[in-house]
Amino acid sequence: MCFSSHIQITPERACRVLDGKVVIITGGARGMGAATARRCANAGARVVITDVLVEEGTATAKELDARFIAHDVTSQDEWAAVVAQTLEEYGRVEGLVNNAGIASLASIEEQSPEEFQQVLQVNLVGTFLGLKAVAGAMRAAGGGAIVNLSSVAGLFALPMTGGYGASKWGVRGLTKIAALEFGRDRIRVNSVHPGMIVTPMTQSFGAVSGEGTFGLSPVGRWGEAEEVAEAIAFLLSDAASYVNGAELAIDGGWTAGEGSLLPPPRPPEGA
Ligand code: NAD
Repeated sequence: MCFSSHIQITPERACRVLDGKVVIITGGARGMGAATARRCANAGARVVITDVLVEEGTATAKELDARFIAHDVTSQDEWAAVVAQTLEEYGRVEGLVNNAGIASLASIEEQSPEEFQQVLQVNLVGTFLGLKAVAGAMRAAGGGAIVNLSSVAGLFALPMTGGYGASKWGVRGLTKIAALEFGRDRIRVNSVHPGMIVTPMTQSFGAVSGEGTFGLSPVGRWGEAEEVAEAIAFLLSDAASYVNGAELAIDGGWTAGEGSLLPPPRPPEGA
């Protein structure tokens, strides 16, 4: 099948859509970052995993024949080191997944200013620093693709997510600004907005896999990290060559009803 004069997607290429691309994935030690690293490696990418969790990150990288770099996304110096080491080893950077993030659940009145600022530092400032750090290298590579992890909490208001929601609305906006600023350099920037996904982050407050586990989503269940990873791999790939500044909800349809809590009516029996 041919999508344009210069991009050919054959069945053989379909599963190696990132063949040879050098992709940095932050927070890749576990959860959605690790699932994304696995999907990208399977698609042929050379993967650089970064995380503050050194033991888990090293183990994940070893399993995938990837590179691990200890990295706190809130540090501009550490970002510079990640890009420098990636260039030293692979010679270029063509993909970045700003995935590292922390959660917090508290009402505005209960949340301390320190916690609010910490969530913004990791989720939003970390993403900003990532955009700054890779732009030059991607420009030098002739272009690239960046995927930022926002959330459904960046698409509609969820109570008890003052810091988290503010950070994810910020990531959504920053993504569009970066898409405008970087587009001419053939660097595409998009955001993904996962719903409730089973990962270590959410398992700590009761996430479970399987049918009937999450009634607010029309599909009635929590999502799996691999289902998000698949969408991220698409956005990183040349198959998404005209997708820029977009926001992709991966939530089983939860936000399609703009957060409505009402399930769709079922037709009466026998109708
Ligand atoms: P997770 O806690 O399982 O993984 C997050 C990873 O980020 C961890 O490995 C952690 O060590 C790393 N990290 C945290 N702070 C860091 C820092 N300062 N520097 C570098 N790495 C750091 O969480 P997850 O559920 O896989 O979440 C991944 C991303 O998806 C996050 O941005 C999260 O906000 C977002 N998200 C998650 C869900 C969900 O339901 N799980 C939904 C929407 C969005």
